[in-house]
Amino acid sequence: MVPRAYPVGTGWIEVVTGCMFSGKTEELIRRLNRARYATQRVVVFKPSIDTRYAAEDVVSHSEQRFPSIPVAHAHEIHRQVGDAQVVGIDEAQFFDLDLVGVVEHLANEGRRVVVAGLDQDFRGVPFEPMPQLLAVAEYVTKTLAVCMVCGAPANRSQRLVPREARVVIGARDAYEARCRLHWRADPEDTQQRLPLPSE
Ligand SMILES: [Zn+2]
Repeated sequence: MVPRAYPVGTGWIEVVTGCMFSGKTEELIRRLNRARYATQRVVVFKPSIDTRYAAEDVVSHSEQRFPSIPVAHAHEIHRQVGDAQVVGIDEAQFFDLDLVGVVEHLANEGRRVVVAGLDQDFRGVPFEPMPQLLAVAEYVTKTLAVCMVCGAPANRSQRLVPREARVVIGARDAYEARCRLHWRADPEDTQQRLPLPSE
């Protein structure tokens, strides 16, 4: 039995979500560091490589670091969370829907849970389980990047290489942030494609 961090019912869920290059992980780390400075017990989880998405999606690596525990499935979070008062979860979009129940359980136990993840995939489709997490969270923060074409606030991840091409995990040059106007579902769609500043 895990000792409770707070009285039951006083936990909550915070979700930090947005497109690539919007600073989700930096915001997660900033919040966790604040808790750590206040001597709260903090633990962070990340999904271990998920083969469903590894070929299609990039896992970006923040230069900022916070030691994290890689887990293959959301249920492992509950097994390894110990007596942490604050639980961080990064790259939450790579977990399945079971993460929602796990996160709710952690909050119900009285813990503060801070979850970061992509809100949409490169096709602009909501990236499960983020929509469900947004629905049950007490606090939601949408982070925005800067559009690489026009400089406007950007909330979408533009894939720059053809859909069939295998993308090396961590290859930042395969994606860039785009605004609503300049994002294209299909990078090969030259009819719709607007010239980049360098062209
Ligand atoms: Zn733009």
